[in-house]
Amino acid sequence: MAFDLSKLTTSIEKYIFLGTLKKEMSATKFTWALSLWLVLFYNASFFKSLCKAIPLENIESAAFLISISLLLLLLNSLLLTIFVFPKIAKPITVIVLISASIAAYFMSAYGIVIHHTMIQNTIETDIKEVRALLNSTLATYIIFLGVIPSVLVIKIRLQFGTLKQQIYSKLKLWGFSLIAITILVAPFSADYASFFRNNKNIREMASPANFIYATISYFFATNKSSVVAPIGEDAKLNAQAAKHTKPILFVVVVGETARADHFSINGYHKPTTPLIAQQDIINYHKVFSCGTETAVSVPCMFSNLTRKHYSDKKGKSQESLLDVLKHSGYSVLWRDNNSSCKGTCNRVEYEDLTNLKIPELCNNRECFDNILLHDIDKKIDHMAGNKVIVLHQKGSHGPDYYNRYPENMEIFKPVCKFNKLQDCSNEEINNAFDNTIRMTDQFLNDTIEWLKTQSNTYNTGLIYLSDHGESLGEKGLYLHGMPYLIAPIEQKHIPFFFWFSTNFELESGINRECLRTQVNTEHSHDNLFHTVLSLLNVSTSLYKPELDMIIDCRK
Ligand SMILES: [Zn+2]
Repeated sequence: MAFDLSKLTTSIEKYIFLGTLKKEMSATKFTWALSLWLVLFYNASFFKSLCKAIPLENIESAAFLISISLLLLLLNSLLLTIFVFPKIAKPITVIVLISASIAAYFMSAYGIVIHHTMIQNTIETDIKEVRALLNSTLATYIIFLGVIPSVLVIKIRLQFGTLKQQIYSKLKLWGFSLIAITILVAPFSADYASFFRNNKNIREMASPANFIYATISYFFATNKSSVVAPIGEDAKLNAQAAKHTKPILFVVVVGETARADHFSINGYHKPTTPLIAQQDIINYHKVFSCGTETAVSVPCMFSNLTRKHYSDKKGKSQESLLDVLKHSGYSVLWRDNNSSCKGTCNRVEYEDLTNLKIPELCNNRECFDNILLHDIDKKIDHMAGNKVIVLHQKGSHGPDYYNRYPENMEIFKPVCKFNKLQDCSNEEINNAFDNTIRMTDQFLNDTIEWLKTQSNTYNTGLIYLSDHGESLGEKGLYLHGMPYLIAPIEQKHIPFFFWFSTNFELESGINRECLRTQVNTEHSHDNLFHTVLSLLNVSTSLYKPELDMIIDCRK
């Protein structure tokens, strides 16, 4: 007898959906039911953080917790009324449910919160980064909190009534909710004020308001900043540049997710950086990032705006350090093995090396960072005059750290081989991450050795710095991207060093030994713009000597 699949699915439907859901439901009832469903099943991280912030100690704290929970229910229903209209209610609800299921997974698995740069990261990510995050738990969240409730929603027959009835029922819902909110908040107004002041991130855990708000604010910010204003058009080479007997070849290596305290040159107990330790580098120990994620840190470090004044909108509405160098006459090239330069190199030459299929440097998933040096000699031959090359690493990007290095570079063992970090021990996670640092050590060493081969022709120099750090399970946090003010130091403390050829040092008038006396001074991404201008002998009215890391060590 042939197997009849349609018969089977019909009977499954009959039993699972019980027929009742095929019945009609008023738009108002649907709004309340959806709001309650979202509060109950997508806000575990919100309630967990809430209970941590307000321990259940007495009747007052219990009453306050109940008040916040009901407030969330009311605010959600107010939000949902905006799209519960004929034709759009179901498709938007499906999008909200699927998005909320994904957000719930990432909040609970990695302790992240959802804000507009997180949405920006999601939108600006590439397929490889997405693949690295997929796992069975995420699939379970999507199926049980995304797909199944969506099917139920599609089955319901929503009753909207006439336009007049719709307006009346929405006004009734709004009126009721606003009165109820006033009643709930009034007795606790002081508690609410201090709670939201001290727990800004909890707001960003309340689903679905968090990602709806973040998505709207992201698109609002991006659409507004399409015009890029030129900066530093007065940039030119200064008198020190004339002292150079050879053209300058300068490399800026932008690392990815490398945290300073896992570098043995910064005192880490495992030998993660044995090769660069042998190079004559000037290594700074206290440097901090501008943001806690690539989409913020990369444009910010190349901006003349300091962290306190930087915003995505401001950053994207003006040119970057690379443009200023170009204005002064430098040839500038950005080579990328990451997910783009986030707009900062839009007006200079750009090479995406992520998809080169060079067998010794790439596998069928990705290329290792040494791809950034592939055919680089040929490349610089085609650049005129003084040259700046930015090499943007894939570095230590997680959670699949084990994918960032070939098998023979698995130095620290055992390693975590899941992208679901919670399934691994602390030691396995750290080992996998430390192998990525060891890989970066080799790449940086190879880059310095390459620069040495160019030192007969050029005055060569290099800066290495990471875009941000990484949480590896400290305080229950993983990965990065926490809002800056509450982000742990592991996500902000970054490695930073200089390497100069002898002739570069001599003809730039820099005193290396003097710089060595300053390596414990605190610096940040704010210093990069002005320090690079200074190192490359570029004068412009934008230059701020107080942010120049080498100013006191000029001969
Ligand atoms: Zn990054």
